[in-house]
Amino acid sequence: MKKVRILPLLLYIAVLVLAFSFIWNLFAGGGDGLSYAQVVELFQQEKVEAFVVDGDVIRLQLNSEYAGKKEVATVLADPDGFRAEMLPLLLEQKEKGILKDFNFIAEEGTTPFDYVLPIIVAGLVLIVVWVLLAGRANSSNPMNDFGKARTTHGLPQDKKVTFADVAGVDEEKEELQEVVDFLRNPEKFTAIGARIPHGILLSGPPGTGKTLLARAVAGEAGVEFLSISGSDFMEMYVGVGASRVRDLFAQAKRVAPAIIFIDEIDAVGRKRGSGLGGGHDEREQTLNQLLVEMDGFARTDGVIVIAATNRVDILDPALLRPGRFDRQVYVHAPDSKGREEILKVHAKGKKLDDSVDLHTVALATSGFTGADLSNLLNEAAILAARADRPVLCMQDLNDAMMKILAGPEKKSCVKLRKDLKITAIHEAGHAVAMYSLPTHDPVHQISIVPRGHALGLTWTRPREDSNHLTRNEMYEQIVGLLGGRVAEAIFLQDISTGASSDIDRASKLARDMVGRYGMCEKLGTVSYTSGGEVFIGRDYEKTKGYSEKVAGTIDDEVKAIIDKAYAQCEEILRRDADKMRLIVEFLLEHETMSGDQFARCMAGEEIGEATSKSVFDNFKETEE
Ligand code: ADP
Ligand code: MG
Ligand code: ZN
Repeated sequence: MKKVRILPLLLYIAVLVLAFSFIWNLFAGGGDGLSYAQVVELFQQEKVEAFVVDGDVIRLQLNSEYAGKKEVATVLADPDGFRAEMLPLLLEQKEKGILKDFNFIAEEGTTPFDYVLPIIVAGLVLIVVWVLLAGRANSSNPMNDFGKARTTHGLPQDKKVTFADVAGVDEEKEELQEVVDFLRNPEKFTAIGARIPHGILLSGPPGTGKTLLARAVAGEAGVEFLSISGSDFMEMYVGVGASRVRDLFAQAKRVAPAIIFIDEIDAVGRKRGSGLGGGHDEREQTLNQLLVEMDGFARTDGVIVIAATNRVDILDPALLRPGRFDRQVYVHAPDSKGREEILKVHAKGKKLDDSVDLHTVALATSGFTGADLSNLLNEAAILAARADRPVLCMQDLNDAMMKILAGPEKKSCVKLRKDLKITAIHEAGHAVAMYSLPTHDPVHQISIVPRGHALGLTWTRPREDSNHLTRNEMYEQIVGLLGGRVAEAIFLQDISTGASSDIDRASKLARDMVGRYGMCEKLGTVSYTSGGEVFIGRDYEKTKGYSEKVAGTIDDEVKAIIDKAYAQCEEILRRDADKMRLIVEFLLEHETMSGDQFARCMAGEEIGEATSKSVFDNFKETEE
């Protein structure tokens, strides 16, 4: 292979050198660069022994050295003028015997070849360059299809996804069923002049099954599925994105009926003229091309664009205009019934023990998306496989859930007695504070086993699918979050770094109460958040939409809320100091305390035997 490569390269270099020397000769005249005056001077000094004028080049043979040479040559601008001017002198010197011989060779005139040769050479060079480049392009050079859209075709023989694989999103499926019908027989719709949406935008939190839904639509309709991610349009070079968009739509029209699926469209579809740091020309061009293409294809082309994003708020309004993504389907995080259905879908192909009750699991996994649930079952299956068990049991799901929520247990981690005591006091503080707050979620488990980043954990049992938070609930959450720090302050007379994330969360909650939800009297029902820019994937507060005075008031109000919560928390913990002690002792001995044991302790009863409770037990009880 290598040799074949080297040959044309050598050829190329040879031609290049040839052409270069030729052109050099042509223009430089190939002389010693003597001026006319110097030539005349050489004659006058009687230094010339012989010379010949060949065309316009004069070659002199000298009797003494000139510039270290005995032979010099140069180009004459006007050989005839030279001859006329010099002839008397030449004849005189010839007579004297100084000049031994001279000759004027008549110029043949420039042949047409003289003009054509450089053109031929240049042409040859071009051809060689072209051949070399073409040769490279043939050998699968990525430059070859740089502007092509790298789509993934969902071919029919691939594992087909249908609506049966997507669970818990019935309304969304209903809306998309229309698209399926249109792709199956468009005539039915066009016959009565119905307008079929050009583009459908799937929005919703990550992991809710948007990508899956789009695949399912293609699978149901049995059409070609061209999938591309928004970031695939982007390359270092300006104009590539736009050409990829063109190519994508051209591909789709060739294989129509088809679905073009643009995943994570926010990568290209962000509001134009926004963002920091400049350099967004490429994205804007790409977006413009996308808009043009979406306007350009006819409804009869049988191409439907489906896009997915979890950031509709940052999309360019032009994308959402009728005629483009005129239909938006919001894909919700599933409710408990939906979660159960999703669990059933993903439990297919896994052997489940009789102990597994997916209904209970669904109840306990409030806030989980489809992706989380699929992950939960997968983790459980891995745990079962590790334990060499052929079937999944409820305990596996329990362990998997703990692992997902708080990271794997760090059993090997060396635990210092001092650290354990701080953690126990901290967690007991959370738990006791939470217990005394009427709207707070009940404590489900307290643990001082380090998991993931957390040294300890106080786990509350979330209330079922609550979407609203009242002011009181938010405030009491803050009190609960401060429990750890307050307990340290009271019972250790010192505070530790363990509370930093609690404090972060408490401050954020307080700030939201004041600035976002208008929950403080002094500032009224006004939202003081500014439309954040998205910069490097993060929300970025561009400008404050309020004065420095208001900013000061916000800070004061936030601090007031935290101070009030701190004082209330301190009061609770001081009142229940004896319970605190019992819990800390229990934790240091047993490492974990279940919700029941905790409740009994708080009620002043015997704590009782330590039982290993699963995450799901309380949900079983609440059922029926
Ligand atoms: P998104 O695109 O919304 O971020 P995906 O569609 O990529 O989420 O979902 C990731 C995975 O989660 C899917 O491959 C699927 O296994 C699972 N999943 C998500 N939602 C559902 C659902 N509603 N039904 C079944 N599985 C789901
Ligand atoms: Mg996705
Ligand atoms: Zn804490």
